[in-house]
Amino acid sequence: MSYVYRNPRVQVDLPQPDPDSRLILNHETGRYIRLGLREFDWLNRFDGQIHLRNVPAAIAQDEAFAAEMLRRMSAAKLICFSDDPVQLQPVQHAEEGSVQVRRLEWAQFGQLRIHLGQPRALLDRLSPVTRPLMSKPFIAAGLLFSLTGLGVALAQSAEFGRAMGAFQWSAWHTAAIIALVFATTFVHELGHAVACAYYGAPVRSIGVMVFYLQPAAYADITDSWQLTNRWHRVAISSAGVYVQGLIATGAVLLWTFLRLTGHNADMLVVFVAMNALIIVLNVLPFTKLDGYWIVSNMIGIANLRDRAIEWWRVSITSMLRRRPVDASRLRFNAEFLRRRRRAARPGGDVFRSSPAGRAPQGAPAPAGAGRTAAGTRCSHRDPRH
Ligand SMILES: [Zn+2]
Repeated sequence: MSYVYRNPRVQVDLPQPDPDSRLILNHETGRYIRLGLREFDWLNRFDGQIHLRNVPAAIAQDEAFAAEMLRRMSAAKLICFSDDPVQLQPVQHAEEGSVQVRRLEWAQFGQLRIHLGQPRALLDRLSPVTRPLMSKPFIAAGLLFSLTGLGVALAQSAEFGRAMGAFQWSAWHTAAIIALVFATTFVHELGHAVACAYYGAPVRSIGVMVFYLQPAAYADITDSWQLTNRWHRVAISSAGVYVQGLIATGAVLLWTFLRLTGHNADMLVVFVAMNALIIVLNVLPFTKLDGYWIVSNMIGIANLRDRAIEWWRVSITSMLRRRPVDASRLRFNAEFLRRRRRAARPGGDVFRSSPAGRAPQGAPAPAGAGRTAAGTRCSHRDPRH
Protein backbone atom coordinates (compact mmCIF):
# COMPACT_ATOMS: atom_id res chain seq x y z
CA MET A 1 0.00 0.00 0.00
CA SER A 2 2.68 2.40 -1.01
CA TYR A 3 1.38 4.09 -4.13
CA VAL A 4 -1.49 6.48 -4.10
CA TYR A 5 -3.92 7.03 -6.96
CA ARG A 6 -7.14 8.88 -7.51
CA ASN A 7 -10.20 6.67 -7.16
CA PRO A 8 -11.19 6.08 -10.80
CA ARG A 9 -14.84 6.36 -9.85
CA VAL A 10 -14.37 9.99 -8.86
CA GLN A 11 -15.71 12.19 -11.64
CA VAL A 12 -13.85 15.49 -11.96
CA ASP A 13 -15.31 16.94 -15.16
CA LEU A 14 -18.58 18.33 -13.79
CA PRO A 15 -20.06 21.73 -14.53
CA GLN A 16 -18.61 24.03 -11.87
CA PRO A 17 -20.99 26.15 -9.80
CA ASP A 18 -18.28 28.09 -8.00
CA PRO A 19 -14.96 29.51 -9.29
CA ASP A 20 -13.22 29.18 -5.90
CA SER A 21 -13.70 25.46 -5.47
CA ARG A 22 -14.08 22.31 -7.51
CA LEU A 23 -17.14 20.13 -7.36
CA ILE A 24 -16.51 16.44 -7.89
CA LEU A 25 -18.79 13.42 -7.74
CA ASN A 26 -17.72 10.19 -6.14
CA HIS A 27 -19.67 7.47 -7.93
CA GLU A 28 -18.58 5.00 -5.28
CA THR A 29 -20.37 6.83 -2.46
CA GLY A 30 -22.87 8.75 -4.60
CA ARG A 31 -21.75 11.99 -2.96
CA TYR A 32 -20.71 15.35 -4.25
CA ILE A 33 -17.69 16.90 -2.61
CA ARG A 34 -16.29 20.36 -2.98
CA LEU A 35 -12.53 20.65 -2.88
CA GLY A 36 -10.32 23.68 -2.68
CA LEU A 37 -8.54 24.46 -5.95
CA ARG A 38 -5.22 23.40 -4.46
CA GLU A 39 -6.54 20.11 -3.13
CA PHE A 40 -8.24 19.42 -6.44
CA ASP A 41 -4.91 19.88 -8.16
CA TRP A 42 -3.20 17.52 -5.71
CA LEU A 43 -5.88 14.90 -6.16
CA ASN A 44 -5.29 14.97 -9.89
CA ARG A 45 -1.58 14.48 -9.40
CA PHE A 46 -2.13 11.12 -7.72
CA ASP A 47 -1.74 9.04 -10.84
CA GLY A 48 -0.51 5.84 -9.23
CA GLN A 49 3.14 6.60 -9.86
CA ILE A 50 3.89 8.53 -6.69
CA HIS A 51 5.24 6.59 -3.72
CA LEU A 52 3.78 7.63 -0.40
CA ARG A 53 7.13 8.88 0.86
CA ASN A 54 7.31 11.25 -2.11
CA VAL A 55 3.87 12.76 -1.57
CA PRO A 56 5.09 15.65 0.65
CA ALA A 57 7.57 16.69 -2.02
CA ALA A 58 5.00 16.30 -4.79
CA ILE A 59 2.61 18.70 -3.11
CA ALA A 60 5.33 20.86 -1.51
CA GLN A 61 4.06 20.37 2.04
CA ASP A 62 5.52 18.83 5.16
CA GLU A 63 4.98 15.23 6.19
CA ALA A 64 2.36 15.85 8.87
CA PHE A 65 0.31 17.91 6.47
CA ALA A 66 0.58 15.35 3.70
CA ALA A 67 -0.38 12.50 6.06
CA GLU A 68 -3.43 14.38 7.28
CA MET A 69 -4.51 15.23 3.74
CA LEU A 70 -4.14 11.62 2.61
CA ARG A 71 -6.14 10.48 5.63
CA ARG A 72 -8.98 12.82 4.78
CA MET A 73 -8.96 12.02 1.08
CA SER A 74 -8.95 8.34 1.92
CA ALA A 75 -11.83 8.73 4.36
CA ALA A 76 -13.83 10.42 1.60
CA LYS A 77 -12.83 7.55 -0.72
CA LEU A 78 -11.21 9.93 -3.14
CA ILE A 79 -7.94 8.03 -3.26
CA CYS A 80 -6.84 4.43 -3.18
CA PHE A 81 -3.55 2.74 -2.38
CA SER A 82 -1.70 0.01 -4.16
CA ASP A 83 1.44 -2.03 -3.47
CA ASP A 84 2.78 -1.41 -6.95
CA PRO A 85 2.67 1.55 -9.31
CA VAL A 86 -0.68 1.80 -11.07
CA GLN A 87 -1.47 2.97 -14.57
CA LEU A 88 -4.76 4.88 -14.50
CA GLN A 89 -7.11 4.34 -17.40
CA PRO A 90 -9.66 6.93 -18.38
CA VAL A 91 -13.16 6.04 -17.22
CA GLN A 92 -16.29 6.95 -19.10
CA HIS A 93 -18.53 8.17 -16.32
CA ALA A 94 -21.38 8.48 -18.73
CA GLU A 95 -21.39 4.68 -18.87
CA GLU A 96 -21.92 4.53 -15.15
CA GLY A 97 -25.15 6.35 -15.77
CA SER A 98 -26.76 7.76 -12.72
CA VAL A 99 -25.40 6.72 -9.37
CA GLN A 100 -26.68 3.31 -8.43
CA VAL A 101 -29.70 3.41 -6.19
CA ARG A 102 -30.43 0.61 -3.77
CA ARG A 103 -33.97 -0.68 -3.41
CA LEU A 104 -33.85 -0.52 0.38
CA GLU A 105 -31.61 1.85 2.24
CA TRP A 106 -31.18 3.03 5.81
CA ALA A 107 -30.58 6.68 5.00
CA GLN A 108 -30.10 7.70 8.61
CA PHE A 109 -30.99 6.31 11.99
CA GLY A 110 -34.74 5.71 12.05
CA GLN A 111 -35.16 6.29 8.33
CA LEU A 112 -35.73 3.41 5.96
CA ARG A 113 -36.06 4.32 2.29
CA ILE A 114 -37.81 2.19 -0.27
CA HIS A 115 -36.80 3.22 -3.74
CA LEU A 116 -39.75 3.04 -6.14
CA GLY A 117 -38.08 4.14 -9.30
CA GLN A 118 -36.22 6.69 -11.31
CA PRO A 119 -38.94 9.24 -12.03
CA ARG A 120 -37.63 10.51 -15.35
CA ALA A 121 -40.46 9.06 -17.45
CA LEU A 122 -43.05 10.32 -15.00
CA LEU A 123 -41.52 13.81 -14.91
CA ASP A 124 -41.31 13.89 -18.71
CA ARG A 125 -44.94 12.95 -18.93
CA LEU A 126 -45.92 15.59 -16.40
CA SER A 127 -43.83 18.33 -17.97
CA PRO A 128 -46.53 19.74 -20.32
CA VAL A 129 -48.53 20.45 -17.17
CA THR A 130 -45.69 21.33 -14.80
CA ARG A 131 -43.74 23.66 -17.10
CA PRO A 132 -46.43 26.37 -17.16
CA LEU A 133 -46.85 25.86 -13.38
CA MET A 134 -43.20 26.85 -12.92
CA SER A 135 -43.70 30.18 -14.70
CA LYS A 136 -43.31 33.30 -12.61
CA PRO A 137 -46.90 34.58 -12.95
CA PHE A 138 -48.26 31.22 -11.90
CA ILE A 139 -45.94 30.98 -8.90
CA ALA A 140 -46.90 34.51 -7.87
CA ALA A 141 -50.58 33.54 -8.17
CA GLY A 142 -49.89 30.40 -6.11
CA LEU A 143 -48.23 32.42 -3.34
CA LEU A 144 -51.17 34.81 -3.32
CA PHE A 145 -53.55 31.85 -3.12
CA SER A 146 -51.66 30.42 -0.12
CA LEU A 147 -51.64 33.81 1.61
CA THR A 148 -55.39 34.00 1.06
CA GLY A 149 -55.75 30.56 2.62
CA LEU A 150 -53.71 31.69 5.62
CA GLY A 151 -55.89 34.78 5.96
CA VAL A 152 -59.12 32.78 5.71
CA ALA A 153 -57.82 30.31 8.31
CA LEU A 154 -56.73 33.06 10.73
CA ALA A 155 -60.07 34.83 10.36
CA GLN A 156 -61.76 31.64 11.57
CA SER A 157 -59.21 30.78 14.25
CA ALA A 158 -61.84 30.44 16.99
CA GLU A 159 -63.84 28.04 14.87
CA PHE A 160 -60.63 26.24 14.01
CA GLY A 161 -59.80 25.70 17.67
CA ARG A 162 -63.30 24.43 18.38
CA ALA A 163 -63.13 21.94 15.50
CA MET A 164 -59.70 20.69 16.66
CA GLY A 165 -60.97 20.20 20.22
CA ALA A 166 -64.18 18.48 19.16
CA PHE A 167 -62.53 16.09 16.71
CA GLN A 168 -63.13 12.42 17.51
CA TRP A 169 -60.01 10.35 16.90
CA SER A 170 -61.61 7.11 15.83
CA ALA A 171 -59.51 4.44 14.14
CA TRP A 172 -61.05 5.29 10.82
CA HIS A 173 -60.36 9.02 11.20
CA THR A 174 -56.78 8.39 12.27
CA ALA A 175 -56.15 6.12 9.30
CA ALA A 176 -57.72 8.65 6.95
CA ILE A 177 -55.58 11.50 8.33
CA ILE A 178 -52.40 9.42 8.06
CA ALA A 179 -53.26 8.49 4.47
CA LEU A 180 -54.04 12.09 3.53
CA VAL A 181 -50.84 13.43 5.10
CA PHE A 182 -48.83 10.68 3.43
CA ALA A 183 -50.33 11.55 0.04
CA THR A 184 -49.50 15.19 0.69
CA THR A 185 -45.86 14.46 1.51
CA PHE A 186 -45.69 12.53 -1.74
CA VAL A 187 -46.94 15.54 -3.69
CA HIS A 188 -44.57 17.74 -1.68
CA GLU A 189 -41.64 15.56 -2.78
CA LEU A 190 -42.95 15.54 -6.32
CA GLY A 191 -42.76 19.34 -6.13
CA HIS A 192 -39.02 19.09 -5.37
CA ALA A 193 -38.58 16.58 -8.20
CA VAL A 194 -40.48 18.66 -10.74
CA ALA A 195 -38.47 21.77 -9.89
CA CYS A 196 -35.22 19.80 -10.06
CA ALA A 197 -36.04 18.43 -13.51
CA TYR A 198 -37.24 21.85 -14.63
CA TYR A 199 -33.82 23.35 -13.96
CA GLY A 200 -32.15 20.48 -15.76
CA ALA A 201 -30.76 18.24 -13.02
CA PRO A 202 -31.70 14.55 -12.95
CA VAL A 203 -33.73 13.16 -10.06
CA ARG A 204 -32.02 9.98 -8.92
CA SER A 205 -34.85 8.30 -7.18
CA ILE A 206 -38.30 8.78 -5.79
CA GLY A 207 -39.86 6.57 -3.20
CA VAL A 208 -41.51 6.07 0.11
CA MET A 209 -39.88 5.86 3.46
CA VAL A 210 -40.43 5.14 7.08
CA PHE A 211 -39.48 8.32 8.90
CA TYR A 212 -39.30 7.57 12.62
CA LEU A 213 -42.19 5.09 12.33
CA GLN A 214 -44.28 7.41 10.13
CA PRO A 215 -44.92 6.81 6.46
CA ALA A 216 -43.39 9.54 4.30
CA ALA A 217 -42.04 10.08 0.83
CA TYR A 218 -38.73 11.27 -0.55
CA ALA A 219 -37.22 12.54 -3.78
CA ASP A 220 -33.46 12.27 -4.16
CA ILE A 221 -32.38 15.55 -5.74
CA THR A 222 -28.70 15.28 -4.85
CA ASP A 223 -27.71 15.98 -8.44
CA SER A 224 -29.05 19.52 -8.11
CA TRP A 225 -25.52 20.24 -6.80
CA GLN A 226 -24.49 20.28 -10.44
CA LEU A 227 -26.61 23.34 -11.12
CA THR A 228 -24.44 26.39 -11.49
CA ASN A 229 -27.07 28.83 -10.27
CA ARG A 230 -27.54 28.37 -6.54
CA TRP A 231 -30.87 30.22 -6.67
CA HIS A 232 -32.20 27.31 -8.67
CA ARG A 233 -31.36 25.11 -5.69
CA VAL A 234 -33.19 27.58 -3.45
CA ALA A 235 -36.23 27.24 -5.72
CA ILE A 236 -35.98 23.44 -5.68
CA SER A 237 -35.83 23.38 -1.88
CA SER A 238 -38.78 25.77 -1.66
CA ALA A 239 -40.95 23.84 -4.12
CA GLY A 240 -42.13 21.23 -1.62
CA VAL A 241 -43.45 23.69 0.94
CA TYR A 242 -44.92 25.80 -1.86
CA VAL A 243 -46.96 22.86 -3.15
CA GLN A 244 -47.95 21.87 0.36
CA GLY A 245 -49.16 25.43 0.99
CA LEU A 246 -51.44 25.15 -2.04
CA ILE A 247 -52.89 21.87 -0.79
CA ALA A 248 -53.45 23.24 2.71
CA THR A 249 -55.15 26.32 1.26
CA GLY A 250 -57.44 24.14 -0.84
CA ALA A 251 -58.38 22.26 2.35
CA VAL A 252 -59.03 25.52 4.25
CA LEU A 253 -61.31 26.82 1.50
CA LEU A 254 -63.15 23.50 1.21
CA TRP A 255 -63.64 23.33 4.97
CA THR A 256 -64.93 26.94 5.03
CA PHE A 257 -67.37 26.17 2.25
CA LEU A 258 -68.64 23.00 3.93
CA ARG A 259 -68.94 24.72 7.32
CA LEU A 260 -70.90 27.64 5.88
CA THR A 261 -73.24 25.24 4.10
CA GLY A 262 -73.90 23.36 7.32
CA HIS A 263 -71.69 20.30 6.87
CA ASN A 264 -69.27 18.83 9.39
CA ALA A 265 -65.77 18.63 7.94
CA ASP A 266 -63.67 18.82 11.09
CA MET A 267 -61.30 16.21 9.70
CA LEU A 268 -60.15 18.83 7.20
CA VAL A 269 -59.19 21.09 10.10
CA VAL A 270 -56.96 18.40 11.56
CA PHE A 271 -55.48 17.84 8.11
CA VAL A 272 -54.75 21.57 7.75
CA ALA A 273 -53.20 21.69 11.23
CA MET A 274 -50.95 18.72 10.38
CA ASN A 275 -49.88 20.45 7.17
CA ALA A 276 -49.15 23.67 9.02
CA LEU A 277 -47.01 21.75 11.52
CA ILE A 278 -45.09 19.96 8.75
CA ILE A 279 -44.52 23.24 6.91
CA VAL A 280 -43.19 24.95 10.04
CA LEU A 281 -40.89 22.02 10.86
CA ASN A 282 -39.63 22.05 7.29
CA VAL A 283 -38.96 25.73 7.13
CA LEU A 284 -37.04 26.05 10.41
CA PRO A 285 -33.39 25.95 9.35
CA PHE A 286 -32.01 24.13 12.41
CA THR A 287 -32.45 20.62 11.09
CA LYS A 288 -31.40 19.56 7.62
CA LEU A 289 -34.81 19.98 6.08
CA ASP A 290 -35.96 22.38 3.38
CA GLY A 291 -35.43 25.60 5.35
CA TYR A 292 -31.83 24.67 6.07
CA TRP A 293 -31.07 24.07 2.40
CA ILE A 294 -32.79 27.29 1.42
CA VAL A 295 -30.64 29.29 3.87
CA SER A 296 -27.45 27.39 3.06
CA ASN A 297 -27.86 28.00 -0.67
CA MET A 298 -29.01 31.58 -0.28
CA ILE A 299 -25.89 32.58 1.62
CA GLY A 300 -23.75 30.25 -0.46
CA ILE A 301 -22.05 28.38 2.39
CA ALA A 302 -21.85 24.63 2.00
CA ASN A 303 -21.84 22.42 5.09
CA LEU A 304 -23.31 25.32 7.00
CA ARG A 305 -24.54 23.20 9.88
CA ASP A 306 -21.30 21.27 10.34
CA ARG A 307 -19.34 24.48 10.18
CA ALA A 308 -21.57 26.23 12.65
CA ILE A 309 -21.47 23.35 15.12
CA GLU A 310 -17.70 23.06 14.78
CA TRP A 311 -17.28 26.79 15.20
CA TRP A 312 -19.21 26.72 18.47
CA ARG A 313 -17.43 23.65 19.78
CA VAL A 314 -13.99 24.97 18.94
CA SER A 315 -14.66 28.48 20.22
CA ILE A 316 -15.98 27.25 23.55
CA THR A 317 -13.16 24.72 24.02
CA SER A 318 -10.47 27.25 23.22
CA MET A 319 -12.08 29.80 25.52
CA LEU A 320 -12.24 27.32 28.40
CA ARG A 321 -8.70 26.11 27.86
CA ARG A 322 -7.40 29.56 27.06
CA ARG A 323 -5.49 28.14 24.16
CA PRO A 324 -5.57 28.99 20.50
CA VAL A 325 -7.50 26.73 18.20
CA ASP A 326 -5.60 23.75 16.89
CA ALA A 327 -6.19 23.88 13.16
CA SER A 328 -5.55 20.16 12.75
CA ARG A 329 -8.72 19.48 14.70
CA LEU A 330 -10.86 21.48 12.32
CA ARG A 331 -12.57 19.57 9.62
CA PHE A 332 -14.83 22.17 8.11
CA ASN A 333 -13.53 25.57 9.02
CA ALA A 334 -9.83 25.62 8.47
CA GLU A 335 -7.07 24.69 6.18
CA PHE A 336 -4.86 21.85 7.23
CA LEU A 337 -2.39 22.29 10.00
CA ARG A 338 0.39 24.60 9.03
CA ARG A 339 3.68 24.29 10.74
CA ARG A 340 4.11 27.84 11.84
CA ARG A 341 0.52 28.78 11.95
CA ARG A 342 -1.36 27.24 14.79
CA ALA A 343 -4.41 29.42 14.83
CA ALA A 344 -7.34 28.51 12.69
CA ARG A 345 -7.82 30.32 9.46
CA PRO A 346 -11.50 30.67 8.86
CA GLY A 347 -12.99 30.36 5.45
CA GLY A 348 -10.41 28.12 3.89
CA ASP A 349 -11.86 24.74 4.54
CA VAL A 350 -10.52 21.96 2.48
CA PHE A 351 -13.25 19.40 2.39
CA ARG A 352 -16.66 20.72 1.89
CA SER A 353 -18.76 17.76 1.12
CA SER A 354 -22.22 18.18 -0.11
CA PRO A 355 -25.31 16.38 0.93
CA ALA A 356 -26.40 13.17 -0.64
CA GLY A 357 -29.94 12.16 -0.93
CA ARG A 358 -33.10 13.56 0.42
CA ALA A 359 -35.19 12.31 3.23
CA PRO A 360 -38.80 13.20 3.78
CA GLN A 361 -39.53 16.73 2.77
CA GLY A 362 -36.07 16.86 1.34
CA ALA A 363 -33.70 16.28 4.21
CA PRO A 364 -30.37 14.95 3.08
CA ALA A 365 -28.41 12.00 4.28
CA PRO A 366 -25.59 13.03 6.57
CA ALA A 367 -22.90 14.86 4.75
CA GLY A 368 -19.32 15.02 5.84
CA ALA A 369 -16.48 13.91 3.71
CA GLY A 370 -14.36 13.03 6.67
CA ARG A 371 -17.04 11.23 8.52
CA THR A 372 -16.88 7.98 6.64
CA ALA A 373 -14.83 5.46 8.50
CA ALA A 374 -11.24 4.91 7.56
CA GLY A 375 -10.35 1.98 5.40
CA THR A 376 -11.00 2.81 1.82
CA ARG A 377 -12.16 0.01 -0.39
CA CYS A 378 -11.61 1.11 -3.90
CA SER A 379 -12.83 -0.71 -6.90
CA HIS A 380 -9.74 -1.92 -8.66
CA ARG A 381 -11.78 -2.58 -11.72
CA ASP A 382 -10.51 0.34 -13.71
CA PRO A 383 -6.84 0.91 -13.02
CA ARG A 384 -4.57 -1.66 -14.55
CA HIS A 385 -1.45 -2.73 -12.75
ZN1 LIG B 1 -39.35 19.36 1.16
